[in-house]
Amino acid sequence: MATDSKGHTAPDIPRSLVERVPVTDTHERWLAEQERADAEKQFHDLLDAAPDAVLEINHEGKIVRANAAVRELFGYSPEELFLQPVEVLIPDELRSNHRVNRSVYESAPAKRPMGSGLDLYAQRRDGTRFPVDIVLSPIPTASGKFHTAAIVRNITHRKQEEILLREARTQAESANRAKSEFLASMSHELRSPLNTIMGYTQLLAEETIGPLNETQRRFVQNIERDSQHLRDLINDILDISRIEAGQLDLKREPFPLAPLLQEVVTSLQPMATERQVRLDNPEHCPATVVGDAFRTRQVVINLLTNAVKFTQPGGSVQIRSRSVHGKIAVSVDDSGIGIPAEHLTSIFDRFHQVSSTPKGVKEGTGLGLAITKKLVEQMGGTIEVTSELDKGSKFTFTLDGWIGADDAAIKVLVVEDEPRSAQLLDDYLSPEGYRVTICHNIEAALQAVAANRPQVILLDLLMPRQASDGLHLLKLLKAAVDTRSIPVVVVSVLEPSISPALTIGAAAHLTKPVHKQQLLDVLRRVVPAHENHPGG
Ligand code: ADP
Repeated sequence: MATDSKGHTAPDIPRSLVERVPVTDTHERWLAEQERADAEKQFHDLLDAAPDAVLEINHEGKIVRANAAVRELFGYSPEELFLQPVEVLIPDELRSNHRVNRSVYESAPAKRPMGSGLDLYAQRRDGTRFPVDIVLSPIPTASGKFHTAAIVRNITHRKQEEILLREARTQAESANRAKSEFLASMSHELRSPLNTIMGYTQLLAEETIGPLNETQRRFVQNIERDSQHLRDLINDILDISRIEAGQLDLKREPFPLAPLLQEVVTSLQPMATERQVRLDNPEHCPATVVGDAFRTRQVVINLLTNAVKFTQPGGSVQIRSRSVHGKIAVSVDDSGIGIPAEHLTSIFDRFHQVSSTPKGVKEGTGLGLAITKKLVEQMGGTIEVTSELDKGSKFTFTLDGWIGADDAAIKVLVVEDEPRSAQLLDDYLSPEGYRVTICHNIEAALQAVAANRPQVILLDLLMPRQASDGLHLLKLLKAAVDTRSIPVVVVSVLEPSISPALTIGAAAHLTKPVHKQQLLDVLRRVVPAHENHPGG
């Protein structure tokens, strides 16, 4: 036996054999053959060193190659799996579905993760299950039929970490909610004695029970000013803690925007006049927005009050609305003191105030923008700010909506938990004149159906982060007499052949990625022709 530098031993080649092989073509072929065998062995060693199971599956769905990792993952030896159908590694109840999926894959083979967005499970020899990630890729063969390589990774640890993280998050959220509930109830308790204080102070100030001397009047004015500030602060704390505790239910209904903007501008004119700031009436924009009118008013009041407050005498403030990317954007522009760049993001944090207010202006609570941002976001919008020091600031928020009256366009409800997918559908449809409302979960969708009866619903089926999924909503809609007739178009990663949606009553089934024209064609088909379609 010969021993190499690493201590590995290899059988000696018998002398007689070496002498018998002549240095000819045959010898070179023999060497080439040896090299090929070595390379193949190295390749097998490499496969066997992989921690993931690597399987090669032929066109009949049978395993024709498996690496050593299958022993640890599945409890089978590679030899035992040879020519077994790949379904032996799949939980019993999913096997028949898997056969269908396999034929779908065969019709369009490509390297891709299996069942993207789904939780996949594999089954061991002893029947136990474990979560897996699987990547598939086609391998061409000499016969022209391709085989499939499947790389299977056991993700039990990752899943456990995800569960721990989720639990930690739930605990943190519930602690935060408890704190907010405490604040909410405390704010209530504070409000009633404060009301009494304010009431009696007002009585004193009116001097109905007797005249005040100069000093007494000044004291009473101080009490009035500070109790008003305290009341604003309590109201703001109550609002923000309600929002954070998830206790602030916002309406979601269409209302015309222009009268609301005009009304707020009119109500703030006295304050603007007093500060010698020009507050322009809004240009007319016939927009309908979807949200909570009362809270939208609160948002507009806060932005306009700040704009007037932080603008020096002689400056001006404008409010405008327009349609942007299928949403309605409202912006408040001022020529005021501006906000330093380093404060532009933290300005929406609670109690964040940049500096003292300009002379003669009542100090705020520092909660206005935090509340504004949360209200806008809860209504499905966004808020942003641009500003230049000593030049002015511009706050812009968006709400769902459209240009035109409430009854002008076909109402489409998009039910989709993934915000970007929902936005894509909105971006396809809003510019075409459809009126799109987006809901990210089933509960919100049910409310939207009741409040603002859509003419068609676009429904995602798989919502892994939600308590129930799209099929559940489809069943509910089709079971209720008053919603049964609303056509539901399923928009899903699933192929129509493996989803029961059509048999439950979906009007059409689109597989993601959906093209714009395809979607428009389907809407024209499923929404009755007498309901005026945009553009035709
Ligand atoms: P406050 O009650 O103090 O107005 P906000 O949350 O509404 O609280 O605003 C936070 C801070 O952001 C303000 O104190 C001010 O420093 C700054 N700010 C808000 N709006 C403007 C604006 N239009 N121009 C300049 N600064 C602003």
